[in-house]
Amino acid sequence: MRLVFLGPPGAGKGTQSARIQEKYDIPQLSTGDMLRAAVKAGTPTGLKAKAIMEAGGLVPDEVVVGIISDRIDEPDAKNGFILDGFPRTVKQAEALADILLKKKINLDAVIELKVDHNVLIERIERRAAESAAKGEAIRADDNPDAFRKRLEAYREQTAPVSAFYTSKGALKAVDGMAAIDDVTAQINRLLES
Ligand code: ADP
Repeated sequence: MRLVFLGPPGAGKGTQSARIQEKYDIPQLSTGDMLRAAVKAGTPTGLKAKAIMEAGGLVPDEVVVGIISDRIDEPDAKNGFILDGFPRTVKQAEALADILLKKKINLDAVIELKVDHNVLIERIERRAAESAAKGEAIRADDNPDAFRKRLEAYREQTAPVSAFYTSKGALKAVDGMAAIDDVTAQINRLLES
């Protein structure tokens, strides 16, 4: 099973991907997680990405395309994967199509989590408060200013990715405003049909 999850920041892609990862035993490949790991490790990619991420912008396409292309060659991704946070621009979507063609593999589904952007700011504030309560580090980009930039980047650069997959007949939409378990049930129904 090879999936792509689309949706704005805070839509619940990470939560739902983690559940699918468990059910189908395929890895969740989050470019956000990979970039945060690179920042933490201080690799050349991390050094390039740090300030951009903190400001809520998008890291250059060639950087994330390279990361994903290498990552899906790893043995644990042989039988499938969930892409969470990639592709985020039409250029990335086109690059992914080329990569998959070269590797002779196909996507099984592209799932978009549809949510009302007004609730996202509340969700992200809650996520920051929950992390703080648990004594965990708060993501450097989970603050209102960076978050607004992330939403703007989504509207301008990522929303067109949905149109890209719609034109290919691959997009399936799910109501991301429903309760977490309901969203999971909707996704499972889609994947089983
Ligand atoms: P979100 O909660 O906004 O979905 P992620 O954890 O997926 O956040 O990503 C965090 C940040 O990492 C983004 O705001 C962006 O700076 C960078 N990033 C992640 N994936 C990509 C990508 N595919 N292209 C460009 N930048 C990315």
